[in-house]
Amino acid sequence: MCVFCKIVNKEIPNYTIYEDEQVLAFLDISQATIGHTIVIPKTHYQNITEIDNDTLAHLMSVVKLIASKCLTIDNVVGVNILNNNGEGAGQTVNHIHFHIIPRYENDDLNITFTNHGEETDFGTVLNSFKI
Ligand code: 5GP
Ligand code: ZN
Repeated sequence: MCVFCKIVNKEIPNYTIYEDEQVLAFLDISQATIGHTIVIPKTHYQNITEIDNDTLAHLMSVVKLIASKCLTIDNVVGVNILNNNGEGAGQTVNHIHFHIIPRYENDDLNITFTNHGEETDFGTVLNSFKI
């Protein structure tokens, strides 16, 4: 059983932020910033491909609720929402989850994108990625 299923089953304690029949949200043990929260479906789905649309839609409504609450908290200047899919993308727990990461002035979280637009052939990329 995965670590998040153990949390759902109360085999591992957690600090619960929000709970309903389908969804649990709890403080991430690593606290990348203060209030860093993990939102999961109570049913085990490995990733974004596996989860059904109705469950995902509800999960996202809870993500929105928690992110909105974060933005009302003193000293919170923004919020990042992150979902890692696959080991190559940094997924370490194979139970789909969204990170909600409140941002503060001068926090030490580092999310940066390098601009590769100049060297990119957008047409070729489109051939592979267009649906
Ligand atoms: P991932 O790298 O898979 O996107 O994120 C997994 C997250 O789960 C990590 O940020 C890690 O700190 C968190 N995590 C792993 N085990 C536990 C645990 O037992 N309790 C809590 N609260 N968080 C956990
Ligand atoms: Zn699980």
